[in-house]
Amino acid sequence: MRPKSIRRCTKCVIDETVPGVTFDDAGVCNHCHEYFKLIMQLKPEDDTKFDRILEPLYIEKSIMGLSGGVDSSYLIHWLVKNNIKPLVVTVDGGWDTDMAKNNVANLVSKLNLNHMEIKLDYDVVNDIQLSFIKAGVIDIDNADDVAIKEVLYREANIRNIKYIISGSDFKTEGKQPRGWSFIDGTYVRSVHKKYGTIPLGDFPMITIWKQALYHFSGIKVIKPLEYMAYNPYLAKDFLAKEYGWQDYGGKHYENHYTKFVAAYWCYNKFGADKRKIEYSAQILSGLMTREEAIEKLAVAPKFSRKELLYIIDNLGISIEEFEKYYNGDNHTFAEFTTSYPIRKMFSSITKRLKRL
Ligand SMILES: [Zn+2]
Repeated sequence: MRPKSIRRCTKCVIDETVPGVTFDDAGVCNHCHEYFKLIMQLKPEDDTKFDRILEPLYIEKSIMGLSGGVDSSYLIHWLVKNNIKPLVVTVDGGWDTDMAKNNVANLVSKLNLNHMEIKLDYDVVNDIQLSFIKAGVIDIDNADDVAIKEVLYREANIRNIKYIISGSDFKTEGKQPRGWSFIDGTYVRSVHKKYGTIPLGDFPMITIWKQALYHFSGIKVIKPLEYMAYNPYLAKDFLAKEYGWQDYGGKHYENHYTKFVAAYWCYNKFGADKRKIEYSAQILSGLMTREEAIEKLAVAPKFSRKELLYIIDNLGISIEEFEKYYNGDNHTFAEFTTSYPIRKMFSSITKRLKRL
């Protein structure tokens, strides 16, 4: 019997395996339509919009997260060369690769940055991550994500900083569907309440309510890369030459745990290839052809047994225990208490908050 063919978008490489995907009569997916809508918003009649968006950053204080990944590394270089010098924050959850640490150290030293490192409680990070693994859900990297977001808003709030500069760029990374990645503090609390073993203490955690409060206190998020002709491949070469920057090999691979999540857990346990979202955005942005993307996707992400054992060892569990969770049933965020019902109800408001 011939295997059922999987329907794929005629413009990008998003297919039926991506949760929430829809296709129009021409076979073009909803991600493509969303991309073109956002591009239209970025391209106003006059070309001074970027200048106007950047303007307050020359006068006001700003803050930015620096992971050592290509996007934030290139952005901080660009900002400093354009006389914008934000307070730079690195959040250490205990899983950063040495390459990422070196990248951060080199940038901080060569650009003479005002740098702050916030070290999370590693035991709590691990306990949250293990709770998610036990829960058998896909988005097991929530701990770092809710913490980083909260730390940036919190530090901005404490220091009366009104601008958070973000290195995210939908043109080159796309937007992961909620069914693959749902970043939510309420979700974290719910999963941890059921499976956690130690108290969360004062672990930083963004929630929809906190984000709304920060927003109403006047804190705005600016994403400069979205307005630039940003090419992460050229940026990598440039950073390597200029800063001795090292390439860690894939989106979010600068962190041992996020690499495990994308290249092993999501791909093998859930059949979710997150590269489809990233490559699709890059096809639409002219950074990759559809044929190149299809070729790349035919090769599974590399994740060695040694890397897996490092993760299991650091989580403090046995291989047998890990395999029990890995082979267990798959679950979704919908089975836990989350802010999703509220987000859905106020979707127009939250969309505005996210874009600010
Ligand atoms: Zn598409």
